[in-house]
Amino acid sequence: MKKKQKGKRLRKSKIQDQDLEPKAIQEMKNKKEDKKDKNDKPKKNKKIKKAKLLLIIVSIIIIIFGIKLAISAHVWKSIAKDMTLNENSIVKDINGNTIATLGSEIKKKVVSYNEIPDNLKNAYVAIEDERFYSHGGVDIKRTASAIGSYIIHFGSSSFGGSTITQQLVKNLTGDATDSITRKVTEWWKAWQLETCLSKDEILDTYLNIIYIGPSIYGVEAGSEYYFNKSVQNLTLEECAFLAGINNSPNSYNPFSDKDNSSKIINRTKTVLTKMKELGYIKNEDEYKEAMQNVEKGLKFKNGKIESSESIYSYHTDALITEITKDICDKYNISETFATNYINMAGLTIYSTQDSDIQKQMETECSKKKYKLASRNSDDSSQAAMVIIDHKTGNVVGCTGGLGEKTTARSFNRATQSVRQTGSAIKPIAVLLPAIDKKIITAATIFDDTEQDFENNYHPTDYSKSLGKITVRRAVESSQNIPFVEIMEKLKPKNSIKYLEKMGVTTLTEEDNSLPLALGGLEKGISPLQMAGAYSTIANDGIYIEPTFYTKIDKNDGTVFIKTSQKTKRVCSKQVAYILKEILTQPVLGENGTATYCKISGVDVAAKTGTTDENYDRWLCGFTPYYTAVTWYGYDQNESIEFNQRNPAGLIWANVMSRIHTGLKGAKFENPGAISTATICSATGKKANTGCPNTYTEYFLWFTVPEICNEHNGSEIKNNENINKNNVTEIIKGITDDIDAKEPERTNTNSSIQQNETQPNKDTKNQKDSNSNNMTKQNSTNEQTNTSTNNNTSNKTNTSNTSTNSTNTSNTVNSNTQKNNLNNSTNTSEDNNSE
Ligand SMILES: [Zn+2]
Repeated sequence: MKKKQKGKRLRKSKIQDQDLEPKAIQEMKNKKEDKKDKNDKPKKNKKIKKAKLLLIIVSIIIIIFGIKLAISAHVWKSIAKDMTLNENSIVKDINGNTIATLGSEIKKKVVSYNEIPDNLKNAYVAIEDERFYSHGGVDIKRTASAIGSYIIHFGSSSFGGSTITQQLVKNLTGDATDSITRKVTEWWKAWQLETCLSKDEILDTYLNIIYIGPSIYGVEAGSEYYFNKSVQNLTLEECAFLAGINNSPNSYNPFSDKDNSSKIINRTKTVLTKMKELGYIKNEDEYKEAMQNVEKGLKFKNGKIESSESIYSYHTDALITEITKDICDKYNISETFATNYINMAGLTIYSTQDSDIQKQMETECSKKKYKLASRNSDDSSQAAMVIIDHKTGNVVGCTGGLGEKTTARSFNRATQSVRQTGSAIKPIAVLLPAIDKKIITAATIFDDTEQDFENNYHPTDYSKSLGKITVRRAVESSQNIPFVEIMEKLKPKNSIKYLEKMGVTTLTEEDNSLPLALGGLEKGISPLQMAGAYSTIANDGIYIEPTFYTKIDKNDGTVFIKTSQKTKRVCSKQVAYILKEILTQPVLGENGTATYCKISGVDVAAKTGTTDENYDRWLCGFTPYYTAVTWYGYDQNESIEFNQRNPAGLIWANVMSRIHTGLKGAKFENPGAISTATICSATGKKANTGCPNTYTEYFLWFTVPEICNEHNGSEIKNNENINKNNVTEIIKGITDDIDAKEPERTNTNSSIQQNETQPNKDTKNQKDSNSNNMTKQNSTNEQTNTSTNNNTSNKTNTSNTSTNSTNTSNTVNSNTQKNNLNNSTNTSEDNNSE
């Protein structure tokens, strides 16, 4: 046995040899012979060869390193030059209005170089870097002795003082770590800086950005803080004071509780003496007078340094995070360095914020009614919302918390909070992949009956299980079990692949299991990533990575960075379209979980999500215009009790209705290559004239099911040409807030299957007497339309429902209402997620 294996292996290696070109084999043989020859030659030769090889390797390394340095030299000089501008960057919204000035929150005041008195410049040079005007960035004399001391102290001593150029490097890059590599890089950068900037430019930038007092930067702001006047009016001894405190401003602060006066006197005198010694003070009397004034005590007067608020919208906060990262990546620099760059390079950043939309979101999220107190802590409930223009991936609005935003760069739940999704994941984790892989159609029947799945997984429904139902019906009231059955066929690992293609990055190995179907995740997904994934459906199957800005211009008007967004086709237009139509079901269906999300005149797709114990509430959806995702919950898991309402849904509905007001009515556009068929609700098969309950469904080509064989009847001529009405009306939106209760859950297999048109006089019997009425009525119109499908005409279909909303047939309406009421026995909420 063993022998056989060995033989096999040998044969294999032989075959591999044969695979080589004969010439190559020949060369190999020659080389082998060469080697033999060499071994015979004297050892000296070998040494020379070795040295040569080493030389080649070393030179290659030097060349590569040199090229790298040359490239980074170019980058570093360009960055530094941009920063000498020392101007804040501005952020503009999509209408060109400035919405943020980045860097204005820093207490600084830029002063032009000629306004800075020579005494001040000289004082700094004298005390910080006396050979400033003669060295090339690094003071060799000082550095040599510093290195000596470093070696003597076995690396435990610091490198001592730095030149002004080096200090500028440190201030620009924000890198103050005490490592030898850092120091060497700093020397190199200082040297490079001297090749592209004049001494005056270096000193100018340096004096304008140095840390000079508590959160105060630059000599002008320092002068106002300590003496309540501009640098131009500083006396010689005041100049000496400012330069003197440079190594540790706060320990010399004259306004602190501690008495620093003797420290101040000594230090200022030292600076004056040094200035005289170096010839910066030529006049003896001037020197003496200054010394005396110091002795008497400098006349400090605390001036106020203004700085702007930096509390921007959550959108701008997210933008700052995004651009900082992009600048880090572009220049290969640290986050602090990139932040300094943004604050100094005078950039113009084009935000994707639509301030009208942002305002609507902020107004809604500031409403007191949404803030629920915690039962366990001082925290209150929170919410996050993201709205994306899915055609571009531009995030047009973003809120990351409830109530007024009072802190800068505060925790942004839209982008930073990763939460369990509940059923909101079903369309992206189950429906899209399964339809794309042709595992299901919208009409496939699944058994909504409790059962055991692998690993003793036993999911339950939020309300009663419905037995055999179509996928569409399962979506309508968010039944759970059918989705687990689909996931079983689809396989969680395939689902994860799709989710990752749609930009979801927080899934783990743990999520590779059936509970993924219902959004039972190890970590969860952020609202932003949920919005990105839903955008894929809305954008006809193409995922576009969401972005908060489109481009950044440099101060000279040249384009600095253009957003590069990952894009990926995840499914066909047709699959996306079928999903859109299925996702109108929770909005339009009688048992829909999101009926209050309807907006008159525009198609709305929406899916709710609720997690175990009611910890998280979601509403994810879109119109032909925008994709929006809202999350609601407590930062620390706590059950949400919101008066039988879904607060995430209400925020969504109110904001979406308002931002669509005034837009042209719009429908989801049929991309073609879609089959429609009248379906028997009971069997999910193509209906015949004997099928009692039918509705119109959308299919990919060649996926229309066979004709129903449970009911007897003749074939229904199918209508392939569905012309959606061209909507020209302008969307009116809402006047009063939507405050709808969640639709009651029924326990029967009713809803879209209820096509019988029994007259019923119970028209006034409506459960909700609030604005939800409108949506409910509209939602039931679907029944009106589909019910006519029983007749031979079949011209109507679910997609026409909202456009035909004016043809409300009271009889049918009341009928469905009645059904709704009759069957609404099981409305109590158990702890199952939906
Ligand atoms: Zn049938």
